[in-house]
Amino acid sequence: MSGQPRTAKTIIIARILALGASLGTMFFYILGTLGVSIAIGAIWNGAVLGIGVFVFVMWAIIRFIGWLFAGDDPAYQQYISEGGDPYFDTLPPPFNSDSWTQRIGGLSEPVTDYVPPEHWQYQCLRCGARVEHEIDTCWNCGNGNDTQQCHGCGLLVREPSFGAFETTGVICPQCNSVIRS
Ligand SMILES: [Zn+2]
Ligand SMILES: [Zn+2]
Repeated sequence: MSGQPRTAKTIIIARILALGASLGTMFFYILGTLGVSIAIGAIWNGAVLGIGVFVFVMWAIIRFIGWLFAGDDPAYQQYISEGGDPYFDTLPPPFNSDSWTQRIGGLSEPVTDYVPPEHWQYQCLRCGARVEHEIDTCWNCGNGNDTQQCHGCGLLVREPSFGAFETTGVICPQCNSVIRS
């Protein structure tokens, strides 16, 4: 899927807590073989609560460090306001299985034969493909391309307003055919 947003933090938290529950089950059996019998519910609660508190403390520390070192960096502020989180975005799979582009840019990349160069860090806001410049014509879906060739006469026609090619179509000034992408 292309252009998908980051995995929701609630899903990531649920995965972490599920790990807590399964660790709890493991402890239950380990203690069982040692001859200690405690209700499994208590162990589950302990493991889930323990991991929950650990995650919260780690998250708070990472966010505090981020605020300390990059709090007045506009790029960091934008990253946070767009749903980025330095803690959740760096968690490994299986908790967070998003690609790096998706973690940083917030959108998944389309699956294509063409892999953009490493240094292309910006993302097409429509399909999520990595592009070279912040304002760029997307090589994958054509988003941002405001010039198209008329299929009637071959004239290169410039789009009068953003998105007009797709929404209303543009009339070719030379042969009057409607240009639509
Ligand atoms: Zn695109
Ligand atoms: Zn034309």
